[in-house]
Amino acid sequence: MSRFWSPLVHELTPYVPGEQPKSNTLIKLNTNENPYPPSPKAIKAIKAEAAASLRLYPDPNADQLKAALATYYNLDCQQVFVGNGSDEVLAHTFQALLKQQQPLLIPDISYSFYPVYCSLYDVKHQMIPLTDSFEIDLQDYQKNNGGIIFPNPNAPTGRLLGLSTIEALLQNNQDSVVVVDEAYIDFGGQSAASLVPHYDNLLVIQTLSKSRSLAGLRVGFALGQSDLIEALERVKNSFNSYPLDRIAIAGAVAAIEDKEYFETITETIIQSRQTLSDSLQAMDFEVVPSAANFVFVRHPQHKAEQLASALRKQSIIVRHFHQPRIEEYLRITVGTDEECKALIKALQLILGLEQA
Ligand SMILES: *Cc1c(COP(=O)(O)O)cnc(C)c1O
Repeated sequence: MSRFWSPLVHELTPYVPGEQPKSNTLIKLNTNENPYPPSPKAIKAIKAEAAASLRLYPDPNADQLKAALATYYNLDCQQVFVGNGSDEVLAHTFQALLKQQQPLLIPDISYSFYPVYCSLYDVKHQMIPLTDSFEIDLQDYQKNNGGIIFPNPNAPTGRLLGLSTIEALLQNNQDSVVVVDEAYIDFGGQSAASLVPHYDNLLVIQTLSKSRSLAGLRVGFALGQSDLIEALERVKNSFNSYPLDRIAIAGAVAAIEDKEYFETITETIIQSRQTLSDSLQAMDFEVVPSAANFVFVRHPQHKAEQLASALRKQSIIVRHFHQPRIEEYLRITVGTDEECKALIKALQLILGLEQA
C-alpha cells in the first residue's frame, strides 16, 4: 500500500492466475493449456517473421488475421475484432459494451476475471446463481439488465449450453448485449458464431490459447455485427492502436489456416477427456459432464484441497478454487494420455487404491 495509489487501485482485487512454475519437471494440469505443441506451420510462420521487418510497426488493424478469421467463420472482416489474448478483448468489451445503467448479469460460478473487470471499469453487475447441477436457468435472466456474459462451455464447470438455449437468451434480451466467451468451444460445442448474422446483440469471444495451443502468443478475437465491433475498435484505438505484434499476427494466421492439425489435436483431447472421466468415475469421483479440455470433479470422501496438495507432492498441479459452492471441486486439465495416466496413478496412491 502506498499513499501515492489512486483510490481505484486501493479498491482493486486483481485476478489470480493459476501457477506457472519455473521448473518444467511438474505435470501441469492447472491452467487448461493444450498439452500438444502449436501447429508446425504456425511455428514456421513465427520464425519467418522474426526478421528485419520487426523494425516496422505491425499493421494496426491486423487485416490479414481478420481476413483469415472471417473466412474461417464465414463472416465479413468488419465482423471481426482481434486483441492480445481474449482477456484483452474482454477488457475492451466491458468498457465498450457492458458498462450500462442496468446491471450486467454474470453466473455466480464462471470465469473469475469478469468481476475483476467490473471493479476496474466500475461496471454494475449482479451474480446469478447457477442451478445445483451448475446449469444456467434461462428464467433467471428474464430481468432488466445492461448485458449478460458467460463462458460456454462454462469455466470452471465444463458444462455446455446448446445453441438453441443461447438463441432463446438472445431473443429474450434484445435490448442488451449477450457475450458468449467461447474459450473452450472447440472441445465439444457448437460455436454461436453462426448466429452472428442473425442477432445484432450477440458478441462471441474466442482465443487461440486453448484449442490452438498458443497461450504464449496472446491472441484472442471477437465476432459480432459491425456496430459492436466498431465499439471495440473505438476503445482499442483510444488505448493502444498497435495491439497485436507482427509475430503474433503471423503465427495466428498460420494456426487458423492449419485446420487439419487443429482437428487432429482437438479430437485427441476429446478422446482423452472421455478416458480420463471414466477412470476418475471408477475411483468414485463425481465428474461434471464436460465439453471443455478440463474436467470438474469431486470425491465424496476426500477434501479437494487436500487432494490438490497431495498431488502437488507427487509433482502434479491441478486447480482448486477457494470459493463458495465449489470448495469441494478440483478442475483438472486434460493432458496427454501419459499425463492422465500419471494423474490416475497418483490418485490411486493417495486414495489408497493401489494394488501392490
Ligand atoms: C483461458 C480463458 C480466457 C483467456 O484466454 P486468453 O486468450 O489466454 O486471454 C478467457 N475466458 C475463459 C473462460 C478462459 O478460460
